[in-house]
Amino acid sequence: MTPPASHLPVLEAIGLSRHYAVPAGPFRPKVALRALDGVSFSLPAARTLAVVGESGCGKSTLARQVTFIESPTSGSIRLDGRPVALHDRLALRAARSQVQIVFQDPYGSLNPRKAVRHILEEPLIINTRMTAAERRERVDWMMAKVGLRPDYAARYPHMFSGGQRQRIAIARALMLNPKVVVADEPVSALDVSVRAQVLNLLMDLGEEFGVAYLFISHDLSVVRHIADDVMVMYLGRAMEIGSRDTLLDAPLHPYTRALITATPQIEANRRKVRELLKGELPSPLNPPSGCVFHTRCPHAVTRCKAEVPQLRAVAGREVACHLAETLVAQPGTPA
Ligand code: SF4
Repeated sequence: MTPPASHLPVLEAIGLSRHYAVPAGPFRPKVALRALDGVSFSLPAARTLAVVGESGCGKSTLARQVTFIESPTSGSIRLDGRPVALHDRLALRAARSQVQIVFQDPYGSLNPRKAVRHILEEPLIINTRMTAAERRERVDWMMAKVGLRPDYAARYPHMFSGGQRQRIAIARALMLNPKVVVADEPVSALDVSVRAQVLNLLMDLGEEFGVAYLFISHDLSVVRHIADDVMVMYLGRAMEIGSRDTLLDAPLHPYTRALITATPQIEANRRKVRELLKGELPSPLNPPSGCVFHTRCPHAVTRCKAEVPQLRAVAGREVACHLAETLVAQPGTPA
């Protein structure tokens, strides 16, 4: 059966990997740091897929690959069902206009030497044939859309608060009517008092513009507020992917359970499983063999050290764990 047009994938990542060659130490040869290791996902139009995990799990590396800031070491990306030619300059330029990004730091992501009008007009100058009058009109309209007075467009970024700057960054991301916006921890650098406002603005504009979000966050309470679907990552790999309610209310992967246990803001009655994370995140320069989570997993068995678990469908989500069926059957575990 063909899915409804609104649920067709607008962005697909297929086996994306990004390895960096880094020195193993003084006078030692370089080794591969596997920041991203074979990650696949599918983002339907106008939906929000949250990517969660501890810092160092590969979330921001993934953001850089799908916004074409960097080329993956291997794997491919599809936009609207068509593969993007990752080594073709013109194809990349067209793809970049369709996938925009809002960075975490509203202080560092806007050019301090340019007035906001210039910052917002720039994508239109580069990518469209709009006249100066049309661009001016579009900038004024977009300023109002993000809750800022159009006459503020003559001001410079330092004249705005953090929340206002993030509104400007959101306006810039939407100037070209992109299909996808990658929001990389968009509220974690903001005062708590303005986070909800910026999140609600993102959600309202996403609905109005029909934008799909890849929403990168370490904060599960924010994810519960904004996401339709969730992908949990650990050491550059996807551990569990499914709908928000399935993953947050009935997590299967021991790492997803540990993340939820560590989030006090998730209502106590929703935390039906308790699993504490033990030990430190291993170095991505020397990741554990087999299941990369086995050094911290309370359920690990001999097989986990030897064999990499592949993502597979279990209980309404995809999960990369050899014991997923056993965990689902554990007494007290929500189905
Ligand atoms: Fe734990 Fe083994 Fe499952 Fe990995 S595969 S999460 S080590 S039980």
